[in-house]
Amino acid sequence: MSAGDVFAERLLAWFDEHGRHDLPWQQDPTPYRVWVSEIMLQQTQVGTVISYYERFMRRFADVEALARADIDEVLHLWTGLGYYARGRNLHRAAVILCRDHAGRFPDSLEELTALPGIGRSTAGAILALGFSRRQPILDGNVKRVLTRVFAIGGWPGRTQVINQLWSLAEELTPDSRVADYTQAIMDLGATLCTRGKPACERCPLAGHCLAHARDETTRYPAPKPAKVKPVRQITFLLLENADGELLLQRRPPSGIWGGLWGFPECADENGLAQRLGELGLRLKQQRRLVPLRHTFSHFHLDINPVHCAVTEMPGDVADDATLCWYSGGQRLGLAAPVKKLIETTELMNDANSTMRKAG
Ligand code: SF4
Repeated sequence: MSAGDVFAERLLAWFDEHGRHDLPWQQDPTPYRVWVSEIMLQQTQVGTVISYYERFMRRFADVEALARADIDEVLHLWTGLGYYARGRNLHRAAVILCRDHAGRFPDSLEELTALPGIGRSTAGAILALGFSRRQPILDGNVKRVLTRVFAIGGWPGRTQVINQLWSLAEELTPDSRVADYTQAIMDLGATLCTRGKPACERCPLAGHCLAHARDETTRYPAPKPAKVKPVRQITFLLLENADGELLLQRRPPSGIWGGLWGFPECADENGLAQRLGELGLRLKQQRRLVPLRHTFSHFHLDINPVHCAVTEMPGDVADDATLCWYSGGQRLGLAAPVKKLIETTELMNDANSTMRKAG
């Protein structure tokens, strides 16, 4: 007996005893009824779908009734299910089925996937459940089961991973009882092999499951990789006067660190002379400090701090309420990396100094 046979046999034995057999779309599973249920189940839990499905079927008992309906009525019955493109595609596909296929569902993968809203897995489910044809499916539940049992790493959205999963799904699908097998693997994913805490102790596949054996079930399936965040650069000017105080500037009320106090900035060191001139300061000495990175939700900010010993040019410093010389004693809202730089560079030389407005 092949590994695939053992897999299917165990799953089917579990399904006979513990699987779900009384879902509305399991009664009289015509391709139409299977199709509507599969579309509704795409982004919605079984418990929510049942009442919508029953209402939909009472109103649109077959594909002709759906094709004849006004789209507004279809969407009205979809209200609350979300992802309304599903309802619109269902209606469009029903019109095409009546126009091009005399209201009958085609029984080939190619023709089914040519219809709006029907992907390979939904087509597989229609063929397996509605026609009892041997055809694999690979919905979210099945992906979770297969990545765990075979410890398949990598995000299933990646071509290489999805191809590997389709090959496995194809190999494991048995020749007989294909409808029950399809329902069984979906049920296992929905009821035992759940996302958060799989009930491995009750799972018929536990003896074959690599993720379970390695106690690594939460590693699979791998999550979608986070988007690479862009990196921006900024130069912070740590301007220290003869009293050991640092010049801080209040940031505009909106934008990053809105309203907090930070160091004067420039795009890079080339802008240093101009910035000092604007602030009415003369450079005595400068040295680079260790760069640091601050990460926001949508980008990284690489901060290049430059420490400058400065003297004030009499009468030249702007009378600006957004500037202050900071001695360490004032209670100011500081942006996190500013606070860190003040602490780590130990530039504060007199904790009792008082704040005075620049100028
Ligand atoms: S043993 Fe656990 S992780 Fe493996 S398939 Fe079963 S429920 Fe999922």
